[in-house]
Amino acid sequence: MGSSVAYHLTAAGCRNVVVLERESSQGKGSTGKSMGGVRAQFSTAVNIRMSLYSIPFFRSFDEVMGHPSGYRPQGYLFVASHERHLEYLRGNYRRQVGLGLQSVELLQAADVIRIVPQLRSDDIVGGSFGATDGFVDPHSVMTGFMLRAIDQGARLERYSEVTGMEIDAQGVAGVRTDRGYITSRTVVNAAGAWAGQVAKFAGLDLPVEPLRRMLVPTEPFDMIPHSAPMVVDMATGFHFRPEGLGLLLAWNDPEETPGFKTNFDPAFVEKILTRGVHRVPCLEEAEVNPKRAWAGLYEMTPDHHAIIGPAPGIPGLYLANGFSGHGVMHSPATGRITADLILKGATDVVDARLLNLERFAEGRLLEETAVL
Ligand SMILES: Cc1cc2nc3c(=O)[nH]c(=O)nc-3n(C[C@H](O)[C@H](O)[C@H](O)COP(=O)(O)OP(=O)(O)OC[C@H]3O[C@@H](n4cnc5c(N)ncnc54)[C@H](O)[C@@H]3O)c2cc1C
Repeated sequence: MGSSVAYHLTAAGCRNVVVLERESSQGKGSTGKSMGGVRAQFSTAVNIRMSLYSIPFFRSFDEVMGHPSGYRPQGYLFVASHERHLEYLRGNYRRQVGLGLQSVELLQAADVIRIVPQLRSDDIVGGSFGATDGFVDPHSVMTGFMLRAIDQGARLERYSEVTGMEIDAQGVAGVRTDRGYITSRTVVNAAGAWAGQVAKFAGLDLPVEPLRRMLVPTEPFDMIPHSAPMVVDMATGFHFRPEGLGLLLAWNDPEETPGFKTNFDPAFVEKILTRGVHRVPCLEEAEVNPKRAWAGLYEMTPDHHAIIGPAPGIPGLYLANGFSGHGVMHSPATGRITADLILKGATDVVDARLLNLERFAEGRLLEETAVL
């Protein structure tokens, strides 16, 4: 987010932008742990709109940034095995098409099986497929944004941990880091799962909670083609996509509890493979080395939508937080919205009021049920 905001600010002509990163390099937070999924198949208008800005952005990323995004439009296939899944997909489909998405289609069971014949199909009742959905390389997207921002005049300061914020009568006055003080009347909190801690430096209560998510790569595996889409089993939430010579498996354990846990739990392998084999029997043959699996943090908000925009009561402080599992795919839109709000006070990408922090106090929660 920091890189995308810096890119969008400098692309709009702003030159005095500095990105602060406490680590030796960027990407050690959630971005480098992400699955890289990109989709417009969401259920709320605001998330669909964020994707309608971001996906075409990824399509032209390499050309515009001079750096690969790794965008592969292999699609997202939602697999329904209950009538209620179909109802949900139909409602989403109508909303997505109504907002201008052309590449999504509702599928009969036979179409689902034609796309991925390896699925256990006796209970499949249909699905949906988004042809421009797919995956990007999260680290490469982040690097592309940052390198271009630097070309355009931004500065990246690594080993710079934000340790405090100075607020005066006019609002934000600057940030303290473990390497010194930086004066600025405009500060963006893009601290990912740690955003709540950074917000506290400004006396702000931010409802962003870290939640561990684990991913399991298989060893080389060719029983499913490498051109397959991201496949989502709606019955369990198990999903997978091709990665390298094998597959990348994901499942969000509902028993996971909030906290800064980034260790991979080896017991997760059996849990995920049970769900995986249930839908994709040939996964029985897949080999998994738990040492190659990893865990990272989602930054969850109470309504599973991002918090973007000015912090209430603190002029100059902006929030780009709480992406609840969608931060990589929505990074282009977030950077553009944040830059618009900073430089012009308005944006035409989404109705930014929907994503502001005040919505929680005012009871205007958005509910995204397609959280993966
Ligand atoms: C397992 C997993 C799978 C995911 N899959 C997907 C997916 O398929 N698609 C998708 O779109 N999203 C996915 N996500 C979510 C996505 O990775 C995040 O939403 C996104 O990376 C958030 O980006 P960010 O820049 O806000 O946070 P981060 O990438 O975490 O960056 C925050 C940065 O702030 C730095 N920082 C924190 N505190 C301070 C401080 N005090 N001072 C200085 N620097 C600080 C950190 O070091 C870090 O580099 C996934 C996440 C996980 C964990």
